[in-house]
Amino acid sequence: MQSLEGKVALVTGASSGIGAAVAQTLAGAGMKVVAGARRTERLAELTATQEYGGEIVTVKLDVTDEQSVRDAVATTVERFGRLDLVVNNAGVMLVGPVQTADTADWNRMVQTNLLGSMYVAHAALPHLLETKGTLIQTSSTSGRSASAGNGVYAATKFGVNAFTEALRQEVTAQGVRVVSIAPGMVDTELASHVTDPQILAMAAKLYASVRTLSPQDIANAVLYAATQPDHVTVNELTIRPTDQVA
Ligand code: NDP
Repeated sequence: MQSLEGKVALVTGASSGIGAAVAQTLAGAGMKVVAGARRTERLAELTATQEYGGEIVTVKLDVTDEQSVRDAVATTVERFGRLDLVVNNAGVMLVGPVQTADTADWNRMVQTNLLGSMYVAHAALPHLLETKGTLIQTSSTSGRSASAGNGVYAATKFGVNAFTEALRQEVTAQGVRVVSIAPGMVDTELASHVTDPQILAMAAKLYASVRTLSPQDIANAVLYAATQPDHVTVNELTIRPTDQVA
């Protein structure tokens, strides 16, 4: 295992769920963490364990706005002088069948999950090339198999996987590690933003039917991938609740 002490991370989607747990876990491992999201009041609730000198600073970030992404990366490098790890995690899941969909939901998912995460990777890449750093992409088990009702969300995560693999091939020989983490059902507020009331109720029932993962379970996977020796890249991790079949 390599130490993360004193190294610098940018975590997107850090105002709740997986991103919040990742930010706190990385700070607990001694990293200087820049935690970004749109809801700054939620970011303010993050607390860093100071045990190993870790620190969290927050930045207002909308990944659908390319300039906001560039500003967050610039703020990170100005504040801490380098960028070693990016956890590209911001996402929305506004699922529902195609026939009855509000296409505004599709737009938000594509803008956030797909294009937004591409903007983040693009803006961070020069710095990761400099530090021979690590990019961790939050995909999903929906990026492995689509099912009725989640076509567009799955399409964004299939897209994330395609982008991730292409980028890995482009930069791995230059020492940048590109990692994909695909969680199954995690107990976060993700499904609570579904706009169709019927689907919202179904999603809540589905999540209640299994022993879901906790955000910390995914943060542990991020820590595992990030602390491997430089010559080891954990390319892909899929983590499902034991009770989750598909
Ligand atoms: P949450 O809803 O708790 O977190 C989503 C995060 O993304 C929030 O911090 C939110 O912050 C942020 N976000 C959304 N839109 C934007 C935006 N435009 N710009 C910046 N940040 C944004 O859900 P999770 O923690 O579960 O989700 C995190 C990632 O994990 C997502 O990519 C999701 O697809 C993925 N995932 C989750 C699973 C689950 O079962 N929970 C399963 C598989 C993958 P804010 O609104 O403040 O901007």
